[in-house]
Amino acid sequence: MKCRAAVLHEIGQAWQIEEISIDALKAGEVLVQWKVAGMCHSDEHLVTGDLVPPAQMLEAAGIPPFFPIIGGHEGAGVVAEVGPGVTSVKPGDHVSASFIPSCGRCRFCSTGRQNLCDAGAGAMQTGMITDGTCRHFLDGGPIKLMAKVGTFSEYAAVAEASVIKVDDDLPLDVVALVSCGVATGWGSATHRADVRPGDTVVVVGIGGIGINAVQGAAMAGAKRVIAVDPVEFKREKAMEFGATHTFASMADAMPAIAELTWGQMADKVIMTPGVLYGEMMQLGTAMAGKGGTIVVTGLAPMAQTESSVNLFELAMWNKEIKGTIFGSLNPRHDIPNLLGMYREGTLKLDELITRRYTLDQINEGYQAMRNGENIRGVIMYD
Ligand SMILES: [Zn+2]
Ligand SMILES: [Zn+2]
Repeated sequence: MKCRAAVLHEIGQAWQIEEISIDALKAGEVLVQWKVAGMCHSDEHLVTGDLVPPAQMLEAAGIPPFFPIIGGHEGAGVVAEVGPGVTSVKPGDHVSASFIPSCGRCRFCSTGRQNLCDAGAGAMQTGMITDGTCRHFLDGGPIKLMAKVGTFSEYAAVAEASVIKVDDDLPLDVVALVSCGVATGWGSATHRADVRPGDTVVVVGIGGIGINAVQGAAMAGAKRVIAVDPVEFKREKAMEFGATHTFASMADAMPAIAELTWGQMADKVIMTPGVLYGEMMQLGTAMAGKGGTIVVTGLAPMAQTESSVNLFELAMWNKEIKGTIFGSLNPRHDIPNLLGMYREGTLKLDELITRRYTLDQINEGYQAMRNGENIRGVIMYD
């Protein structure tokens, strides 16, 4: 079949809307008609090159060039067709994308750490999770899909492990948001930082992920949720999602946190900036007090290996720095669980969507994100 998709051909270029073709499904595969795609910052990392392995590295490893790629890893849609052996979904089912597949069988899935599923290893390489061969083609050549889901395409053939069935009556725009940004931010606070009632929590960077770290910290009972972002609109939004204090920068927040906590500093610091640079970790770790935890959620440029952390204080104050992907949640449990909280009115999702775009307006949507105008923009296909 043929359909339209937003394709990136090179670092620094705009997304191009192209016609792609998709081959017939093989065993364990699902054809999804994407209805909504979230415009997450991670796809912007493809444009800036932060998420693109250096060309020399690929060449040395004998891996074909990175581009072209169909973007999009946040999404929700309807199953159009299933291949042989697929049991968890059928045509007509509503599904959430899962940019981290959950095979359910590997060492990590079988020990409650689906966010580390082994099937996610080749997420940025060409070919299907199922058998490594290609289903998507552009001008006759194979094309890869962002995180093997490619939600910036009207249709995509994906592995069964990459889709999670959701209830049919839920609005697909909120389902799309839960598939990455909401889960990642919320889980960073509730699971990875393990926010406890009475904690003082700092969230640095209020985009689609940070705003949900604020929401998660507030739900977990934090006494103070301090949101840091240079954009006033985002600081106001953070207050709506449970922040108790806001600051424009970490430097502004430091003395205020010291005063608010009587010198104890924060129990948890969650780093969710658009791009995490090494030097941000100096104040990031300094804002945590004795026994404090610093959770690193934001993506750093792939080649970044240096970071400014006071190692003396790290040891003497018994601090801990932790990374997280997908907020350390399990997609198969936590995507439906978060949607259940939305249904009961305890999790805010509708309020996260700032603007809706068509696929053709994708570059406009990303420009709004760069300008700090959107908490989350979404692409609506219908
Ligand atoms: Zn994302
Ligand atoms: Zn697995």
